[in-house]
Amino acid sequence: MKFIGAHVSASGGVENAPVNAHKIGARAFALFTKNQRQWVAKPLTENNISAFKENCKKYNYSPKHILPHDSYLINLGHPEKEKLQKSREAFIDEMQRCEQLGLEKLNFHPGSHLKLISEDDCLKTISESINISLQKTNNVTAIIENTAGQGSNIGYTFEQLRQIIDRVDDKNRVGVCIDTCHAFTSGYDLISKEGYETTWKKFELAIGLNFLKGIHLNDSKKPLGSRVDRHDNIGIGLIGKEFFERFMNDKRFNNIPIILETPNDGLWAQEIEMLYGFVVNSEK
Ligand code: MN
Ligand code: MN
Ligand code: ZN
Repeated sequence: MKFIGAHVSASGGVENAPVNAHKIGARAFALFTKNQRQWVAKPLTENNISAFKENCKKYNYSPKHILPHDSYLINLGHPEKEKLQKSREAFIDEMQRCEQLGLEKLNFHPGSHLKLISEDDCLKTISESINISLQKTNNVTAIIENTAGQGSNIGYTFEQLRQIIDRVDDKNRVGVCIDTCHAFTSGYDLISKEGYETTWKKFELAIGLNFLKGIHLNDSKKPLGSRVDRHDNIGIGLIGKEFFERFMNDKRFNNIPIILETPNDGLWAQEIEMLYGFVVNSEK
């Protein structure tokens, strides 16, 4: 079974995220556990935590299908010592917030070298950041998202993601989330049947499906290999409807959270319904 949802709003409190997810017919969801554009957030209250858990239970969301996303300010591969330290502290705080909410994954963008260090050094720094964060927490898995390779963002090839994983000590607490828009604009063809099969074969060879813990399902406004990150709504971008039909009938993506980050949140309910409509076999 596919667990499709969207990155829903948690404004007014994290406990609102499962309510917002339920409203659009989602079976999974993503959220920010704090304001994603600020370094410091006030701690979650006992009320936030218990209401979040209650609402998840009420609307049938298991932690397995919830994929929190970290703040955009964090750069775990930062070339400067002080700023790296700040990022690591903020990331650990986010992991702890996830633990408080009973969540088991935290999705993040690997980092940027800012043209100050080599890609390889940046990848090493990211692995170290993950190791430090895992040591300071107990139950949360670090979920690395592939990037479009825009600017100096690292993690735009499956091999780079593999390199990060290779240097992580606890392989049971590291995984990846593939963003389909990012994969496409970083150069992985998803349009044709051959392109689709080749891309996932490359993924299997470089990383392995056992590490795949989530999907960001987005269409793209920018072409294959453009390395520009602009999401589009499902089926109307340059990846196109055929990909999403193929994806929805591919059992390799069953049972993991599949999150829409498409631009118009007013379309999410429709998009989710359309995606489930693409499933041709009995098991939706
Ligand atoms: Mn992301
Ligand atoms: Mn994404
Ligand atoms: Zn993106």
